Amino acid sequence: MGFGDLGVCDQLVKACLALGWKEPTPIQTEAIPLALAGKDIIGLAQTGSGKTAAFVIPILQVLLEKSHPFFASVLSPTRELAIQIGQQFEAMGSGIGLKCAVVVGGVDVMSEMIALGKGPHIVVGTPGRFAFHLANTKGFNLRSLKFLVLDEADRLLDLDFEKEMDEILKAIPRERQTLLYSATMTSKVAKLQRACLRNPAKVEV
Ligand code: AMP
Repeated sequence: MGFGDLGVCDQLVKACLALGWKEPTPIQTEAIPLALAGKDIIGLAQTGSGKTAAFVIPILQVLLEKSHPFFASVLSPTRELAIQIGQQFEAMGSGIGLKCAVVVGGVDVMSEMIALGKGPHIVVGTPGRFAFHLANTKGFNLRSLKFLVLDEADRLLDLDFEKEMDEILKAIPRERQTLLYSATMTSKVAKLQRACLRNPAKVEV
């Protein structure tokens, strides 16, 4: 089975092939059609399963179908992971004029403010720095957000980002699609799921 069989458009199938990905991984096979159908998803998957592309591909496809302004945010527990996610968006979205900004601790705030001012379609970040920009960067708000991804949610919560997550979630429209990925289902993750997801489909590999 190829990516096209999951409903992925030709342009993105080509982008996958260019990365050497001929077949979807099990998490991609399950999650991509559900995400394309507009479902909220709770995905239990480890790093290495291909979970990043399981949310990058549907987000890019919806973006391709209709041009949107600022559109999707991904929250990740660590700077390294946020940078990798940003790179995956760039790698797959390079042919479609995608603008993606990454906002993480330890990086010059001004350069991030400039990137946010350019009107990115996607903002990937760690919760602390993301919340900082929401409070301090003129023109950066989440009113047009359509997709929220909470990646490695168990680690997001373990690292005590709860206060920042609350601030961010309050600023996001209710009408949105939320994709939550976690390696483990802890009681904190279940609570976050109840607070953020609507009738989610569960995907587990
Ligand atoms: P992740 O679990 O998202 O961190 O992905 C792990 C690695 O798998 C990354 O290096 C991806 O580039 C790679 N990858 C993702 N999807 C596929 C695929 N369908 N076929 C081959 N490699 C993939």
